[in-house]
Amino acid sequence: MPKKKTTGLDEYGAKRDFSRTPEPRAGIGRPGTGAGFVVQKHLARHLHYDLRLEVDGALKSWAIPRGPSMDPHEKRLAVATEDHPLAYIDFEGVIPPGEYGAGVVMVWDYGTYRNMKEEEERPVSMAEGLLNGHLTVWLEGKRLKGGFALIRTPRGWLLIKMDDTFADARRDLLLTETVSALSGRTIEEIGREGSGG
Ligand code: MN
Repeated sequence: MPKKKTTGLDEYGAKRDFSRTPEPRAGIGRPGTGAGFVVQKHLARHLHYDLRLEVDGALKSWAIPRGPSMDPHEKRLAVATEDHPLAYIDFEGVIPPGEYGAGVVMVWDYGTYRNMKEEEERPVSMAEGLLNGHLTVWLEGKRLKGGFALIRTPRGWLLIKMDDTFADARRDLLLTETVSALSGRTIEEIGREGSGG
């Protein structure tokens, strides 16, 4: 029998009680597109935004306390968190009290991304970029667009908008885009309706 492939999703499963949380189990749901991404607004004990990039069959994840910015001068701390299953890419709903991440999850942005990382004109895979602590991706979201760098520092990862035509220091998307990019619902509506609404 072939050895079970390690997906890196054991931590995800260990943190959750699937008889209580509506979040998807690892290993179920549709296959990914190969290059999807999502940013989920997560009203937990502390409001934050979770960035997830599809890499090699899982969603590599970071919690961004202050959310993404379109201003290249803003360096936003991005705390690496456990891999999430691909099915999480369109999860929106309520994680019940007492469960890990209890609160409301909204799909704030979603779309596809392209790995832009090259070194001396040689493409660098996402897996390699994660190991090296330096990713550059081009996001094609409903809201976030253009190049973004994720750089690992001794104090954590930083998410930084690259200076391209989509960079905009005057627009704060976190203030102007307040409803779900997927369902159009507010955080309050998702909180009332859960994942079924
Ligand atoms: Mn979160």
